[in-house]
Amino acid sequence: MGNDKNLFNSESINPSRMLGAIKGSKNGPSIVIFAGIHGNEMAGVKASKIVLEKIKNQNISFKGNLNVVLGNLNALKKGIRYEHIDLNRIWKQENINTLNNISSTKNAEEKEQLEIYYCIKNILKTNSGPFYFLDLHTTSSPTIPFITISDSLNNRKFSSKFSVPIVLGIEEYLDGPLLTYINEFGHIALGFEAGEHYDIESVKKSEAFIWSALVNSKCILRNSFSDYDKYENMLSEINFKNVYFEIVFKYTLTENENFKMHKGFNNFESISKDQGLAVSDGRDLTASIDGIIFMPLYQELGDDGYFILNKISSFWLYASILARRVKINHFLRLIPGVRMDPNSRYGLIVNPKIARFLAKDIFHLLGYRKQIFKNGKLYFIKRDRKISTFE
Ligand SMILES: [Zn+2]
Repeated sequence: MGNDKNLFNSESINPSRMLGAIKGSKNGPSIVIFAGIHGNEMAGVKASKIVLEKIKNQNISFKGNLNVVLGNLNALKKGIRYEHIDLNRIWKQENINTLNNISSTKNAEEKEQLEIYYCIKNILKTNSGPFYFLDLHTTSSPTIPFITISDSLNNRKFSSKFSVPIVLGIEEYLDGPLLTYINEFGHIALGFEAGEHYDIESVKKSEAFIWSALVNSKCILRNSFSDYDKYENMLSEINFKNVYFEIVFKYTLTENENFKMHKGFNNFESISKDQGLAVSDGRDLTASIDGIIFMPLYQELGDDGYFILNKISSFWLYASILARRVKINHFLRLIPGVRMDPNSRYGLIVNPKIARFLAKDIFHLLGYRKQIFKNGKLYFIKRDRKISTFE
């Protein structure tokens, strides 16, 4: 354990950025954990520390590498979510392109982003793959633990090894999360939400998730330490093994909106159409569809009021694996009004009139998510990718 000097060969990296690292055998998987991207979420930081110490103290044999990267150092120190801007909403290509511009006007989070960016670059350069990126979070209200992923088949395969609900398609509703950016380079990237911010259970669940990830990526053997079964059971949500959900609705807060979620909603609780969910500026907000309530906002900060989920059928899950394997998307391009994006090998440009006939579901089935409407055209971006150089 301890800090690895090789990781800091860029001057931009603050040594306290790395909580610790394990250098196991040279070849093999590399796990990269992000903890504290939100400064008020300490559970992941504590859990990572415990895991690093246990591996060292119990001499657990380790194949590959583990690096724990701290997120918003400034906010962690102050115990706040962020200072100026949410560090998990600024990982957009246009921001990355200007990251290196020397400017004294960078805000607190942009400075953090610059360091994290170089940290990732160095880890990818000095470690061997396959890479598994894990981002540890907690939520403002109590929840069973869950995983969020971009819908690529490699993400799905790895996340199916954990017995917690998996939520797909968050990239269509959130702009600029760190993991969506990392996914664009083809790496596996899982977000883990352990539970409520200040609940001691959230530390235990985060620890259980890390051990489970280390075993499932084959960095450690499941029998290499005595209480592994205990941790595995801790994450076992009986009704949620291999249950996938898709986000179908998000309620976004406008500036200065006086939003109050009705009390008592549990994450993943069923709701029905027209059910009252919140009050906004004195007006009742009701559910537009039947579904499952997700991430109801019970804290001061944040722009996302609540989400509504649909459970994905296992038929759809299998059909999408088949469709992507046989590359039906090549046929999509033969449809008038659908063409390849000349600027991106993973992009499709779609005439909105055609898109009206081709349901969004078809694009989702083939792995195209994140529609962007630009210059009168719809852009769809594919989540399944080959590994490419991080830049
Ligand atoms: Zn968070």
